[in-house]
Amino acid sequence: MFNLTDPIYSDKDKVREALEALLWPNGPACPHCGNADPGRITLLKGKSTRPGVRWCNECGKPFTVTVGTIFEDSKVPLNKWLLAFRLMASSKKGMSAHQLHRSLGVTYKTAWFMAHRIRESMMPDGSFGPLGGENKVVEVDESYVGGKAKNRAHAKTPPKKHAVVALVEREGKVRSFHVANVTAKTLRPIIVQTASRKSHLMTDESTLYPKLGREFAGHSAVNHSANEYVRLGGFAHTNTVEGYFSMLKRGIYGVYHHVSEAHLRRYLAEFDFRHNTRTALGVTDTERTNAALLGTVGKRLTYRRTDEARHT
Ligand SMILES: [Zn+2]
Repeated sequence: MFNLTDPIYSDKDKVREALEALLWPNGPACPHCGNADPGRITLLKGKSTRPGVRWCNECGKPFTVTVGTIFEDSKVPLNKWLLAFRLMASSKKGMSAHQLHRSLGVTYKTAWFMAHRIRESMMPDGSFGPLGGENKVVEVDESYVGGKAKNRAHAKTPPKKHAVVALVEREGKVRSFHVANVTAKTLRPIIVQTASRKSHLMTDESTLYPKLGREFAGHSAVNHSANEYVRLGGFAHTNTVEGYFSMLKRGIYGVYHHVSEAHLRRYLAEFDFRHNTRTALGVTDTERTNAALLGTVGKRLTYRRTDEARHT
């Protein structure tokens, strides 16, 4: 566990300096015009100036490390943001807004809002390459998540379940997607765009996959009903993707209790992110937290402030 008394969680300057070191590894860069020439950037000093404000001599505008990030315009102090990132990144099944609210000393609504911005930062960027490749196995499966019926004993209709398709490269990374419905037509574009066609595709025996499987270097279909989980010397199975769904469900039912359809893609991003930066891949809690913090760039809040208090 990390040290809560570390000054980066309490000292305002240390917090900002830690973020600057992470987001500006080569020194300050102007988010307005891209100027990164240290001779053309001036650190502003003075009683009326907030610490950390730079002046860009190229475009004539001031900036700080938080401009253009999810922290810009937020009233939550940076140290609470950094602590929230640390907590979300290091808890295996996620952290509820209630837990964050208690840990950070912010209102429940603020905690809820922060958690969603953190999930947004965990979304994969354009550098996320295809899963699989030559001599690699990509397991695909679909599952349904949503509120549990027992939590809604008096509801007239059972809670809606949402379809999720996940692709997992064995010993590698995962991408999961919320789909409106599970058909060969909805799954095909997701699967061919996410997995390299040089991969061996591993699915269940659903009728969704035979045609799609022929687009890949190889395809095995595992028959769950015949208890034929492991065949061909342990090669033919979908245990990895089933393990992913098991973790996702433990998080969604155990920590979050319910997720709405509108926010499901963010929860999926959170679980994908933690799987893709898991300890077994040699990633430490600090490195995972930093990876999430790097995702704050270019995701400035576009909500109005009143939306900080809105939740469903
Ligand atoms: Zn500039």
